[in-house]
Amino acid sequence: MNILKSLESGLEAFFKPFEYIASRYFLLPTRWLLSQIDPLSYAFEGTLLKKILQVSIYPIFMTLTFVIGFNLVDEGYTFRTFLGTIVMFLIFGAIFAPLEHLMPFSRKWLKDDDTHVDFMMFFGGKFWGDYINQPLKLATISLVVQEISPEIGRGIWPANIHPWVQVLLLLSINDFFRYWYHRWMHESPFMWRWHSVHHSSRRLYWFNGTRSHPIEGLVSGFLWGIPLAFVQAPVEIVFVTGLLGRTIGRFQHTNLDVILGPFDYIFSSPKNHRYHHSKKIEEGNSNYGGDVIFWDILFGTFYLPKGQQPSDDIGIGSMPNFPKSFVGLMFAPFTFGRLKKEAEGVSAEQEPIKN
Ligand SMILES: [Zn+2]
Ligand SMILES: [Zn+2]
Repeated sequence: MNILKSLESGLEAFFKPFEYIASRYFLLPTRWLLSQIDPLSYAFEGTLLKKILQVSIYPIFMTLTFVIGFNLVDEGYTFRTFLGTIVMFLIFGAIFAPLEHLMPFSRKWLKDDDTHVDFMMFFGGKFWGDYINQPLKLATISLVVQEISPEIGRGIWPANIHPWVQVLLLLSINDFFRYWYHRWMHESPFMWRWHSVHHSSRRLYWFNGTRSHPIEGLVSGFLWGIPLAFVQAPVEIVFVTGLLGRTIGRFQHTNLDVILGPFDYIFSSPKNHRYHHSKKIEEGNSNYGGDVIFWDILFGTFYLPKGQQPSDDIGIGSMPNFPKSFVGLMFAPFTFGRLKKEAEGVSAEQEPIKN
């Protein structure tokens, strides 16, 4: 245990300069730039334009994903598709940050004291995951389906129905597996060690989907591919489904004050995912869906009380001592037992521990 501790503090010291450079030269100017929008957000409050944006932004981005996606893959999966995917991810990401300052769900969550950690998480795994590994995985699956499928036939896949419906069908099948994997991560104490890193966020905003342990990402990415390859859907459907999943994921963690209406009962939305990040165990162990939410409705884990808004006080309620640094988060699954014991010693009055 002592070796692990000294390794952890050694790595903390090693990464300090990197965190400093990232904070000082990249995040500080960005933070200043974004804060210029804040005064505007007060004037924006209660306007008709805000109302229109609140209800239209989700369907607009979802529709754009379908249109751009099918366009990128209209000649099959090519290098243009690969490059287009990366450009689209970057543009969508860049739009969300200023929008959050214009119409935030929680002003508390605009207070940026942890982006440098998420920045490190990004380069420590998510940059690889989001911009290299996922596009590569999407490319591999798409190409395999494109090359092999015509040979062995597509007997089980309803290739004649509208392509958009095919995408939604594949998304739902895929998310059935993701639902159970996510639920398992919450219900098994061993799996929770890894997934707790994701839940250590104290605020939700467009960028902190990056906060996942790379081991968790590795396993889930692998599981993601199996059902897609198995059902033998055509390549364009496989590709657009993957792309749509990314757009849904971007919205899930966003600090945008959006109104989704019926979409809250179909997709894994910002509102229902905020409950999933709640400090209260009865709220947190719900809404496991990654892309769609109706598996939760079917299996009894859906939580969306009518007429209420989720709290912006989020995180792991039972472990206020959970590491905040990049290295600490990387080590957390390995030092979880000690952290839990420490947390139990910190306060006699604890909220129930998530596993
Ligand atoms: Zn979770
Ligand atoms: Zn989340």
